[in-house]
Amino acid sequence: MLYAISTSGEKIRAEKKKKAFCGLCGSPMLAKCGQIKIWHWAHESKKDCDLWYEPETEWHLSWKSQFSSECVEYNFKGHRADVYNKNGVVIEFQNSSISAEEIKKREEFYGKNMIWVINGKKIAQHFFWPASSFWSIASITDHEFIWKHLHQCWKYSNRKIYIDFGELGINKEETAGTRANSDGLFLITSFFNNPKKHRDRFLRSYQIDTHGECLLIERKDFLNEYLT
Ligand SMILES: [Zn+2]
Repeated sequence: MLYAISTSGEKIRAEKKKKAFCGLCGSPMLAKCGQIKIWHWAHESKKDCDLWYEPETEWHLSWKSQFSSECVEYNFKGHRADVYNKNGVVIEFQNSSISAEEIKKREEFYGKNMIWVINGKKIAQHFFWPASSFWSIASITDHEFIWKHLHQCWKYSNRKIYIDFGELGINKEETAGTRANSDGLFLITSFFNNPKKHRDRFLRSYQIDTHGECLLIERKDFLNEYLT
């Protein structure tokens, strides 16, 4: 966790040898102040009190550190929302895979004002863009994507899903490897049930995979919208 509660009741970032407690369960926390990860806290007991906890990566920590402290790790009726911003939007940063039931449960719990941000780095090699002109399009328009080996669960989500590929880039085509990403997040606007027919042999082989459309949202625009 990025924050814990100090002995004087303040929400504080991790510091060497600092004493603090979990904002949710009140148990003692350990300051993790190493050289690699952003300094953070972990339950001394090694067991997290929130059942929805997922092991925190640098990706989580760096996203959360951009928001103001009062919005981060917000105690939302007994669960720790990654971010609960001043407009009442819950942002869940999801790094690992998650089941359809889990998605449904969280969406019902947090309500309509909730969005997902998925770490795309682990799945970047499974994304393909049939429109070869994708990278030359300057304006933001719909883009068809193919998501090989989609975690089917995301199809059942009823909230906005943003995918963050970070600096990794995405596959333009199978053999071309990755290419630098314009700095943005991909907002999924739809999944197709019946993929469009492709004449291209390469693309035809992907017809069994999940197709959809997304919008490229510049990182600064995403932050402008949610960093309040
Ligand atoms: Zn706790």
